[in-house]
Amino acid sequence: MTDFCRHLMSDITIAGLTIRNRILSTGHQTYLADRGLPGDDFIAYHEARAKGGAGLIITEAARFHETALSEAPDLHILSDDAIPAFTRLTQAVHRHGAKIIGQLSHTGRVTRRVQGGLRGIVHAPSAVPSGRFTVVPREMTTALVEDIVAAAIAGAGRYHRAGYDGVELMASHGLLFAQFLNPRVNRRTDKYGGSPENRMRALADTFRGIRAVVGRDMVLGLRISSEELEPDGLDRDEAIDICRILADAGLVDYVNTTIGSMAGLGGSIHVVPPMEIAPGYVARNAQAIREAISVPVFVAGRINDPQVGERIIGSGQADMVAMTRALITDPDLPNKVKAGQPDLVRACIGCNQACIGHMHAGYRISCIQTPISGRELRMPAASGAQTPKRVMVVGGGPAGLRAAITAAEDGHVVSLHESGPVPGGQVLLAQALPERAEFGGLVTNLLAEVARHDIDITLNSTATRETVLAANPDMVILATGSTMLPPEVEVEVEGAGEGHVLTAEDVLKGANTGSRVLVADWGCDWVGIGLAMQLAGDGCQVRLAVTGTCAGEALPPYLRNYWVGRLHEAGVQVIPFARIYGVDDDTAYLLHAISDQPVICDGVDTVVVANGRLARTTLEQDLAGTGIPVVTVGDCNTARTAEEAIYEGLVFTREALTRLGAA
Ligand code: SF4
Repeated sequence: MTDFCRHLMSDITIAGLTIRNRILSTGHQTYLADRGLPGDDFIAYHEARAKGGAGLIITEAARFHETALSEAPDLHILSDDAIPAFTRLTQAVHRHGAKIIGQLSHTGRVTRRVQGGLRGIVHAPSAVPSGRFTVVPREMTTALVEDIVAAAIAGAGRYHRAGYDGVELMASHGLLFAQFLNPRVNRRTDKYGGSPENRMRALADTFRGIRAVVGRDMVLGLRISSEELEPDGLDRDEAIDICRILADAGLVDYVNTTIGSMAGLGGSIHVVPPMEIAPGYVARNAQAIREAISVPVFVAGRINDPQVGERIIGSGQADMVAMTRALITDPDLPNKVKAGQPDLVRACIGCNQACIGHMHAGYRISCIQTPISGRELRMPAASGAQTPKRVMVVGGGPAGLRAAITAAEDGHVVSLHESGPVPGGQVLLAQALPERAEFGGLVTNLLAEVARHDIDITLNSTATRETVLAANPDMVILATGSTMLPPEVEVEVEGAGEGHVLTAEDVLKGANTGSRVLVADWGCDWVGIGLAMQLAGDGCQVRLAVTGTCAGEALPPYLRNYWVGRLHEAGVQVIPFARIYGVDDDTAYLLHAISDQPVICDGVDTVVVANGRLARTTLEQDLAGTGIPVVTVGDCNTARTAEEAIYEGLVFTREALTRLGAA
């Protein structure tokens, strides 16, 4: 074990439960549940993290009461019928030496859920609106609160019988128990409202009831936001007081801290903070709680590499660190650190795209860098190489790099040809945008893997039909990427070429603009936002015209909301539903996407067009008829994102090589 991670990799005992290291995976929705229960995919996902060395796995919030609204992919523990499925899960996790804790959650007023397409009946401590999902709940009766407390106790009993090591109540993120604790949200006049003691009653009674059922067999934990960062949310001092009261009363064995709230748009950014937010930023709050209580404190919040975790544990800010996305990206992270090989870790870049981004879009969890995450049982097997094939990869972006690594891992002889001076493709531009440097980690990770294989890389090498024929490979993998559509092709900007109109790539490569800029963003992704922020940072007066409803519409919601706020702070005027169609002198002409009416912007020195991208297919066409098997991966199929590029680089390559081996 390397010295730098000795604190992180040391064991810890919590109320008699010894955990092998300080790395935990927090409860996070995977959408892997099978009809609400842990099935094969769910178990394989968590087993992979247990096998990879995680100390503690906390499984996602399970519904324990019918009034917690939910959709099918969510987990539930509503009856004893659930116990066998959860037992299979605990056995799989325990098999690899990890511990497992289950969460109990009720959403209360914070729900976007629909049941069969209908919005459900929303129950909360009081009829206080929740802004994020525009819900005005109905106040729970006293009898309903008592029933929810009883149901939570019963749910914990089921976790116990399924072999869980502990149970954690969700009083974080503005969820139901947090709503009871909060005097601005809980306006009840019965025994569950009013005084601090009354507001604490639902949570405290639940902990007491669980302890009466499970005794000391399980550790009991509290999940809480160290501050909710919403106008009506719990603040830091209130959170500290709550933790102190529960810990002093002996009701909790640990406190698992996070930050933010699901109740509002601003606070919810922190539920899964994107790369723009500093690593380990919640540790200061965790430390304040740790100094106030005597039970161990966990902390989450952008702890995406072992060094950050080590610093937090070593400096005494927390007792365990939540490295949830780090483990989604690299389930084997703990074992690699333990083996003194942190350089082998594939680091999470905080993009939010395939983890929480998938969940928000209604799809199963994954990772843009690690397609097998969430697909543990669904990926093609290695192609095998009894007779190694000579594989020529053309293009050194994410798709080409992943294709080359995959072919090399499977035992083939691989060469990679990149036309530019450095590999990286579109990532090289993406990482140049404000606060997006960490995106470049995706290529850093890929190049580190390339370096561990015998891959012959040639830079500044433009492959042609002739060079491919001369090399005579057994297979060509084309990862030739895409090119941005010029303004006159897609948006028909009149006046293009007269100095008024630049492309996004022109600006990213350093082209000068005037001081009054209109960014015309076709894709509603990070390109238009990044350009607008960069230009605003340079002192320009910036307007951002987007074709969709808002800036960043195509981004994962927390990332989009972060940037919507930042654009506002920077004074960027956003014009929704607007498509550029013309420019003359200092006027830009937009068309409203719905009304078809013109939107005229005066006082524009430069229009920067962030357009769609066109697949590069020339070499694919040139190789037709050569008899050499050709596979296309990534943007040269259709321009999309790094996620599809890496997925296809792995899956399409492996499938094609398997077919080639069988031929
Ligand atoms: Fe991290 Fe992005 Fe992977 Fe999510 S998708 S785990 S944020 S690298």
